[in-house]
Amino acid sequence: MPRPPESVVDGSKAEAKDLPAVDRLLREPVVAALLHEHGHTLVAGEARLLLDGLRSRARAGTLDRAAVQGLALAAALGTQVQRRLAPRLQRVLNLTGTVIHTNLGRALLADAALQHVLAMMAGPNNLEYDLASGGRGDRDSIVEELLCTLTGAEAATVVNNNAGAVLLTIAALARGQECIVSRGELVEIGGAFRMPDVMAAAGATLVEVGTTNRTHPQDYERAITDRTALLMKVHTSNYAVQGFTAAVDEAELASIAHARGLPLASDLGSGSLIDLAAYGLPREPTPQEKLAAGCDVVTFSGDKLLGGPQAGLIVGSRAAITRIRKYPLKRALRMSKLPLAALEATLRLYLRPERLAQDLPTLRLLTRSAESLRALATALLPAVAAAVAPRFDAQVVDLLGQIGSGSLPVDRLPSAGLALAPVQKKGAGRALDALSSALRALPLPVIGRIADDRLLLDLRGLEDPQPFTAQLPQLQECLR
Ligand SMILES: *Cc1c(COP(=O)(O)O)cnc(C)c1O
Repeated sequence: MPRPPESVVDGSKAEAKDLPAVDRLLREPVVAALLHEHGHTLVAGEARLLLDGLRSRARAGTLDRAAVQGLALAAALGTQVQRRLAPRLQRVLNLTGTVIHTNLGRALLADAALQHVLAMMAGPNNLEYDLASGGRGDRDSIVEELLCTLTGAEAATVVNNNAGAVLLTIAALARGQECIVSRGELVEIGGAFRMPDVMAAAGATLVEVGTTNRTHPQDYERAITDRTALLMKVHTSNYAVQGFTAAVDEAELASIAHARGLPLASDLGSGSLIDLAAYGLPREPTPQEKLAAGCDVVTFSGDKLLGGPQAGLIVGSRAAITRIRKYPLKRALRMSKLPLAALEATLRLYLRPERLAQDLPTLRLLTRSAESLRALATALLPAVAAAVAPRFDAQVVDLLGQIGSGSLPVDRLPSAGLALAPVQKKGAGRALDALSSALRALPLPVIGRIADDRLLLDLRGLEDPQPFTAQLPQLQECLR
């Protein structure tokens, strides 16, 4: 009996023996272009993986015959090569309403910082070279003077991040001795950074004083012994103790510490170098006021409210900073030249505070008015509504965002954006999940948040709407 013509076989399943050998696939004319562009190593490696995968599917009887034809295989290989070369770290649009979002990379760098990083990384630089003397320099000197000018500190040093800054400070000042902290300040911040564990890792013994809600000066005074090396305040970044509370402020604690010849350290977490209240934002403590209150060391992050790269900034008295800088752990936690270049350029922006709300993206985003965001939402509404119709309704809504990354946990930022709600109440949860994954699957993934059976897109994080609107046809296609 004659074999049926090809068209009749279409749609039937392929067998493993129908798949070509790697060499034959590589000799397909379309694959020549891939080989030319990417070389043999990558393309042959991906071809092997592709064919292995298809062979198991063929053995399982789930591979369509159409998939084993030369052109289809070449196309699949092209896609696989592109996917392998695509970076895992991608740009996204942060429409969550949380401006400094740890999962989305925290602070955005200013143009000045980006340019300085590019310029400094493209060639050799004087990272640890003193151009005046021609001798060895210290990388701390790149930012120390700036940090002292901006905070009023006598001395400053920088490390990889603020968790490292806290660990190093405790180790350098209290290793093998005791460090006193209020029970109301034994914080856990994300990523397994818990004060008692940090204390143990630094080799210091934590002495807890007071209670969760109230700690008094006498609590500290009574706990001080000849084993005490350090008193410490920790900013309760991600929670607030409210109601019947008492805490000892830095000024009072500094006089208690200094009367016994002990240093006082303060971990500010975010810390802001400017008074945010002057911009109509909730107040956040500044390193300068903590130093003025008598703290010997203040630590804070580079990529939270400061608006720079990941870094741990340590400012304080010359005596304390010298001990910290000499401690061996400093070398292990030192900053790399890449973020150091970004940090220097970011700090320089603070020398021109009048321009900061334009020059520093974090502050620029935080100071966008709710009215301007509402106007933007109104302008975007027709296009967005058309893209998500008919399954979803779009509406302009007032929203409450937040600064994020542990600053000001209870304060909310009045904001505005778009709310997308499933038209059919039945299966609304699944529809919302599908919508948010469609948004995440866009070439420039859009990250919103789901609340009250709606997907909310807070527009505070959308400075340039063009890349967002340009993707709406793709979103529409995907939701069809
Ligand atoms: C965020 C934070 C840290 C850690 O800072 P990183 O720069 O993320 O390492 C430490 N302490 C407090 C109070 C914080 O809020």
